[in-house]
Amino acid sequence: MQVAVVTVGDEILAGDTVNTNASWLCARLAERGVDVERVITLPDRVADIARVVNEYHAEYDAVLVTGGLGPTHDDLTMAAVAAAFGRDLEPHDEALDWLTEHGGYSASDLAAGTTDLPAGARFLPNTEGVAPGCVVESVYVLPGVPDEMEAMFAAIETEFSGEPRYVRTLLADEPESALLDRIEGVREAFDVRVGSYPGEGVRLKLTGTDESEVESAVAWLRERVDVATQSE
Ligand code: ATP
Ligand code: MG
Repeated sequence: MQVAVVTVGDEILAGDTVNTNASWLCARLAERGVDVERVITLPDRVADIARVVNEYHAEYDAVLVTGGLGPTHDDLTMAAVAAAFGRDLEPHDEALDWLTEHGGYSASDLAAGTTDLPAGARFLPNTEGVAPGCVVESVYVLPGVPDEMEAMFAAIETEFSGEPRYVRTLLADEPESALLDRIEGVREAFDVRVGSYPGEGVRLKLTGTDESEVESAVAWLRERVDVATQSE
């Protein structure tokens, strides 16, 4: 399964908010064997969000959008997703029922537009906040507040799956330039994907769908590389 992650918010583009939602979602999706093919951050602008949602919806099995829910002036994501599908934004009875039954709100407590979702959307309750999420076809719309987004993702995560992958990492105590021959060698000898991430040492990440193949590749490297420590 191939998906795209779309994070919305001027504050992310301005550097005021670190985009932890994107990395959190990428990690959860990768754990489930899902390939994240795109991560994009967009401004709070309906036309931009609608265009990208439309494009990614056509290209990937699913799109996860976070941020810009709720009724304030800069919360435009629902309107944009509705526009991407050529649907109206309309009050959603189930969202109102949920907020009055579980959220402890009366309809008059809620700011105008709080329960507006694209017509025909599947409602996703926000157990940690107010602004509802939704699913339109294979586009999932989640809140921007990390706790709210994480709880909502937990409720839908089984809808994201792929072939299980096995991951092992080694920390090489050699410069990356010196490792090139061994990286090439392990890629040729085994059916694994190799990532090389320099920092304090070089973290070599091996990923594959066959566990024994990944283990053999790690063993091959451990015999040939100065290993600082091993993790995973
Ligand atoms: P609410 O459900 O409260 O209306 P929302 O979906 O409207 O939330 P935003 O208004 O976009 O979310 O953002 C609310 C807060 O969530 C931001 O101030 C920011 O702190 C945090 N936030 C938004 N997007 C991200 C992100 N991609 N990564 C981390 N934090 C984020
Ligand atoms: Mg908001």
